[in-house]
Amino acid sequence: MVMNLILLGLPGAGKGTQADKIVKDYAVVHISTGDIFRANLAQNTDLGKEARSYMDSGNLVPDKITNAMVADRLLAADVKEHGFMLDGYPRNEEQARFLDGFLDERGQKVSATFYFKVSDDILRQRLLGRGRADDTPAVIDKRLQVNKAANLPLVDYYQAEGVLHTIDGNGDVDSIYQNVKKVLDSLS
Ligand code: AMP
Repeated sequence: MVMNLILLGLPGAGKGTQADKIVKDYAVVHISTGDIFRANLAQNTDLGKEARSYMDSGNLVPDKITNAMVADRLLAADVKEHGFMLDGYPRNEEQARFLDGFLDERGQKVSATFYFKVSDDILRQRLLGRGRADDTPAVIDKRLQVNKAANLPLVDYYQAEGVLHTIDGNGDVDSIYQNVKKVLDSLS
């Protein structure tokens, strides 16, 4: 069965680590909108030129541009064959609705949305541990606050759709992954 997955989680929730493990075991196509935008910036494509000012100022790229880019990627043959795992998209309800409409038109749907839930204390510890210059406690708190405001409506959205799986992301990488695997194995 082809699986279509979405990963949700705040910065430091371990999404990237779990994404790598999922791809290895289930061969879904990992689609990170942040990575695609960064590649377009680096190559100075028309899309990169459009996205640059938003990205440089830490804002979201407008939905119209982002949705078109995602739609284009989802139409590729590898996604049709292996399914997708979206990372960093959707970032708001408009994008979630667009994605549902796009899939619906093609007789597809989201198989599972994972929300990696981690306590604020542990998120702060992990982000501070990365030691990035801009990761001061105040900046980290602000980033968590902003991301929470964006993430939580999506958690509710996918809960209402009946595809949300909340994963306790406080523990160690492998035990978290075992819980992800249980869900994925129950789907396939
Ligand atoms: P990320 O690496 O996911 O934090 O993404 C880096 C930047 O790319 C973000 O700050 C946004 O400017 C842009 N971006 C990534 N994903 C999206 C999205 N789903 N909607 C709008 N902008 C996005």
